Amino acid sequence: MSAADPNCVFCKIVEGKIPSRKVHEDDEILAFHDIHPWAPVHFLMVPKQHLASLAQVGPQHEALLGRMMALAPKLALQEGCRPYPQGGWRVVINTGDDGGQEVHHLHIHVFGGPRPWLKG
Ligand code: AMP
Ligand code: ZN
Repeated sequence: MSAADPNCVFCKIVEGKIPSRKVHEDDEILAFHDIHPWAPVHFLMVPKQHLASLAQVGPQHEALLGRMMALAPKLALQEGCRPYPQGGWRVVINTGDDGGQEVHHLHIHVFGGPRPWLKG
């Protein structure tokens, strides 16, 4: 992974230059609430180091991506998603223009809570 990108909004959040409502922080991962939530629960999980998208992921990122996916259920429940199977959540990684990616710093969306949701 490369160093912080000075033009990247999520690098600025990681560095504390832009405020966020934090859900989780450890040495490699930051999670924070999405500023425009689509669902009653909607937060983002990002690697602290700049990585543009899932398209750049390689074998060297397997442990990091695994940690992020394994952390998602814990944070989903912590933030108010209801337990599986009646509850649950949706995990989305938009990748590239055709994938609807607007911020080019890899992020996992976690959506949940009672429906209806704004989108989906
Ligand atoms: P994507 O389309 O997958 O790239 O999604 C980017 C997401 O980042 C959108 O859902 C935005 O609402 C969210 N977002 C953009 N800027 C911020 C910010 N400063 N704090 C929290 N979420 C943000
Ligand atoms: Zn970044």
